[in-house]
Amino acid sequence: MATDIPLAPYAAHPEQSRGRSFSEPPPSYRSEYQRDRDRIVHSAAFRRLEYKTQVFVNHEGDMFRTRLTHTIEVAQIGRSIARCLQLNEDLTEAIALAHDLGHTPFGHAGQDVLNECMRAYGGFEHNLQSLRVVDELEEKYADFRGLNLSFETREGILKHCSPDKAKGLAEIGQRFLLRRQPGLEAQLANLADEIAYNNHDVDDGLRAGLITVEQLCDVSLFRQQYEVVMARYPDLSGRRRVHEIIRRMINSQVTDLINNAKANLARVQPESIDAVRSMDGPLICFSDEMNEFNLEMKRFLRRQLYQHYRVQRMTNKAGRVIRELFGVFMTEPKLLPPEASREAAAFEAATGEEGRARAVADYVAGMTDRYAILEYGRMFDPAALTW
Ligand code: MG
Repeated sequence: MATDIPLAPYAAHPEQSRGRSFSEPPPSYRSEYQRDRDRIVHSAAFRRLEYKTQVFVNHEGDMFRTRLTHTIEVAQIGRSIARCLQLNEDLTEAIALAHDLGHTPFGHAGQDVLNECMRAYGGFEHNLQSLRVVDELEEKYADFRGLNLSFETREGILKHCSPDKAKGLAEIGQRFLLRRQPGLEAQLANLADEIAYNNHDVDDGLRAGLITVEQLCDVSLFRQQYEVVMARYPDLSGRRRVHEIIRRMINSQVTDLINNAKANLARVQPESIDAVRSMDGPLICFSDEMNEFNLEMKRFLRRQLYQHYRVQRMTNKAGRVIRELFGVFMTEPKLLPPEASREAAAFEAATGEEGRARAVADYVAGMTDRYAILEYGRMFDPAALTW
């Protein structure tokens, strides 16, 4: 641990880990979860997050969040809370840094269209793909495929999973069949994600001019902090006013989560991570009141930002790029670059057309926004001179 604060009994203790799929000697100067975190940071999929969309496509502006900066914010929020609750900060960080590795280019638009394309072949789900990236797709080590991460990190990455898919996932899928919980660090990383995107989407939406402070004053979370800030700093305006409100919104959600989780943990007093896993519901959660506020904010963002016509135009265009790239490689796998082409042939030999589709989906999902746009040009623009 990076800190002298002892871990609580219900935290993930590295010595109680369920281990790695491929057995490795223990690290000599780091904890197991630090090693996981370091492997994630050094992965190719992590670097690609820089050029993947959160809400705004990368080339729309340099000031908007990308998947990478979103990921770093999730890790920051998660670590602060983990330390405060005496949970394992390294594990929380590892899960946070890996949580979006499986996202397609162009955010949810990309995921939805790729899922459509893959409907006859088992579907595509970004969360499952994040696990696939760390388990299978990263090519970093001589001894094994993927990153060979600890069970607890993988457990945290796989946030949700249908019972159907869970059946094919061995031990990591069990909890979705038994309706059990993941460890507290996984529960925390999930909510740190929610705190990060709800707040930074407000910030980015305002910056893009797609939503306004006046509209946001109809949303409780925003209005509460707006009123505090205006009473205290009546002359404040512009970006500083927005940032002062948003930092207070983040603080109110983090504080609510810490207080509520502390009360739950004091009431239940789980004696180990396995006691946490066998519970009916999560212990790291917001108060009912904060849950309501968060839902109200999500509804607002969906209506006013994610469905804004300018965002929808980009979404539509992105969907076309993904659909057509998938289609052309599926019909003509020989157009794939050599590595992806070899993968497609190997998967096809093993599981037929479904295998080929999975290899094409892996290739398309791994693209950054700008690579997908370039590749689209190379495939469909007769005037494009590159190959
Ligand atoms: Mg996320």
